[in-house]
Amino acid sequence: MEEKILIFGHKNPDTDSICSAMVKQRLNRRMGYTKCHAGRLGNLNKETKYVLNYLNLEEPELIEKVEEGQEVILVDHNEFNQSAEGIEKAKIIGVIDHHRIANFETSEPLYYTARPYGCTCTILYKEYKQRDLEINKEEAILMASAIISDTLLLKSPTTTEHDKRALEELGKIANINITEYGLEMLKAGTDLDDFSAKELINLDAKSLNKENIKYVIAQVNTVSIEDVLKRQKELEHAIEEEIKEKGLDLFVLAITDILNSNSEILVLGKKSEIVETAFNVKLENNRAFLEGVVSRKKQLLPNIDKNI
Ligand code: MG
Ligand code: MG
Ligand code: MG
Repeated sequence: MEEKILIFGHKNPDTDSICSAMVKQRLNRRMGYTKCHAGRLGNLNKETKYVLNYLNLEEPELIEKVEEGQEVILVDHNEFNQSAEGIEKAKIIGVIDHHRIANFETSEPLYYTARPYGCTCTILYKEYKQRDLEINKEEAILMASAIISDTLLLKSPTTTEHDKRALEELGKIANINITEYGLEMLKAGTDLDDFSAKELINLDAKSLNKENIKYVIAQVNTVSIEDVLKRQKELEHAIEEEIKEKGLDLFVLAITDILNSNSEILVLGKKSEIVETAFNVKLENNRAFLEGVVSRKKQLLPNIDKNI
């Protein structure tokens, strides 16, 4: 068995999942845990690529599955259905996360840090502070990027005072203009042109499960909802395929306007009426506009979940 301790975020990795794993590796190594290796459970999106390019850093290694007994640290997720293949039999020695705790179980004690902040990297920022460790420029940009991504430049309702203070401090350490850098980074993530419809609906998709209802909430960021919806027919076709393949009851694709902080949802599946009840809307042409909705975690997921 490998000696390594693997650190990784969720499938369909976003910027927080990648940056948290990379920062946690650096933090642990700084404390003398040299066996820690950051990994990823899928391809990087364009936003995250922008960050690693900016810093001239290599992508973390791809993890296809984890072996029985493999020591792992989970960041930015805990639910097994969002984690690596084989996670049930791995040895989870730590979790650092800012999501609800669900579909999670271990047979041994572990370090578990959960905070209701806007980003996993905000938790990691505090870990540096608590240990009185200096944050270098590279670490500051990794953490700042994740906070910008998860909170949409502090505009998402998931944003807390902790995230605001952390981002301000990290901007000073990195000596960058956070708003300028952040907008460029977010915009890099909205370039969806060369993704197939199937890739697009899976870029940032979370599989969920309640009372035997299997559903997915996927999200794409854009600066023009209309632009994404030019491909509606193609997207619907890909969603239908996904529903068939995975036996889903519901698929929600949120197309989120990052400049105006709204979303249009495209909804398919035999349980679509759950979404209509959840947001008190009538789907027209499988779509509805949700004013002020940008957060899956705080707005989409809880509303849908409580209506199942
Ligand atoms: Mg995430
Ligand atoms: Mg996150
Ligand atoms: Mg996200």
